[in-house]
Amino acid sequence: MSFLTLRNVTKRYGSFEAVGNVTLSVEKGEFVSLLGPSGCGKTTTLQMIAGFVDVTSGTIELDGRDITRTKPNSRGLGIVFQSYALFPHMTVFDNVSFGLEMKRVPKSERAALVEEALALVHLDKHAGRYPRELSGGQRQRVALARAIVIRPPVLLLDEPLSNLDAKLREAMQFELRDIQRKVGTTTIMVTHDQAEAFSISDRVVVMESGRITQIDQPYRIYEHPETEFISRFVGKTNMLPGTVSAVGDGRATVSLAGMPADVPADGLSMGETVVLCIRPEKLRLTPAGQGRLQGRVTDRFFLGSQWLYHLDGPLGPLMAVATNDGEAPLDPGAPVGVDWPAAVVRVHRGAMPAAPE
Ligand code: ATP
Repeated sequence: MSFLTLRNVTKRYGSFEAVGNVTLSVEKGEFVSLLGPSGCGKTTTLQMIAGFVDVTSGTIELDGRDITRTKPNSRGLGIVFQSYALFPHMTVFDNVSFGLEMKRVPKSERAALVEEALALVHLDKHAGRYPRELSGGQRQRVALARAIVIRPPVLLLDEPLSNLDAKLREAMQFELRDIQRKVGTTTIMVTHDQAEAFSISDRVVVMESGRITQIDQPYRIYEHPETEFISRFVGKTNMLPGTVSAVGDGRATVSLAGMPADVPADGLSMGETVVLCIRPEKLRLTPAGQGRLQGRVTDRFFLGSQWLYHLDGPLGPLMAVATNDGEAPLDPGAPVGVDWPAAVVRVHRGAMPAAPE
C-alpha cells in the first residue's frame, strides 16, 4: 500500500479548475517531483497536501489515514518554501529548534536533535550564527534542517533551490538528494526545472493545465514522453511532420516530405497526420550525400563536451548534438547528411503544435 495517496483531487476557484482529478500514489521513502510549466497546478497540489489549500473534491490519505480535512499543523509535515523564512533575530540553532518547541518536544531532548539535523546539512559549525551571517545556500540548508528536525512523515519542497545561483543550485541538488536518502523521508518537490527534477527524483509527475499527463522514472519520461508537449518541455526535441503512407505487420511507414521513415505501427492508420520526435543527441551527422536527410549547418554552439548544431533541411530546422572529439567542428554553411536509428523515433499523433512562445 502506498504511503501518501491522492485520489481524484480537484481544486476549483469559482469556475476555474486549477487542479483536476489528480491521482497519485507515493511510496514510503520515495523522492517525487511535480514538474510542469508555470500555472499548471504544481504549487496548488503541494499546498493541498500541506493543508494550506482546501480540496474541492477528492481525498488525500497519509499512511492509511484520511487527512483531507485535517488542519495543516496536525498533519505534521515538513515544509520548505522558495523563500526560506528564517527568523532573523534567532541563531541557526534556535531557528532549527523552534519547530521542536512547537511540537512540545522537551528541552532536554531538543539539543541532540538540532545538532543531528545541523550535522546532516553540514552546518554544525555554524549553529551560533545568525541568518544574515550565512550564504544563500547555507540559509536554505537551515530551512531544510528546520523541516527535517521534526522527523516529518513527508517533506514538501516548493522550488527550494530557485533563489540560488546556477552553480550552488546544482551542488545543492546533489546534497538535497543525499540528505533525503540518509533521512529516508518521503519527499515531494515542486519544480519547473526539468534538469533538477530529473537529476534527483525517483519518479517525476508531469502536469499540464491542472492535470497529470505522465508519472514515471526520469529516464522513462525522457525516452518515452507520452505527449508531444512533454517531448518539448523535457529536454530538446526535433519535430518532423509526416503522413502515414503504409501500415504493415507491427511497423508503419511515415512519409516525411516524400522520404519514408520506418516507425512502430502502434494503432496508426493510413493517411493519418503524425509528428516524429527525435532528440538532438539521437541524430547522427553523416557526410553530405549520405543519411536520410540532407541539410546545411546554420549555427553551432560549443557546450564543452559536445557541439550543438542548428541545421536547415527539407523539413525545416533541426538540432543535432555531436560529441566533441577534439577535432575542428563543422562550419556554418557546411552541407551535412542526417541519419537516425528507427528505434529512437517517438511518434505522436496529430498535427505539429504551434511554436512554443
Ligand atoms: P508556478 O510555477 O508559476 O508557481 P504552479 O504550477 O505552481 O505555477 P499554481 O500556483 O498551482 O501553479 O496555480 C495553478 C493555477 O491556479 C494558476 O492558473 C493560478 O493562477 C490559479 N490559482 C492559484 N491560486 C489561486 C487563487 N487563490 N485564486 C484563483 N486562482 C488561483
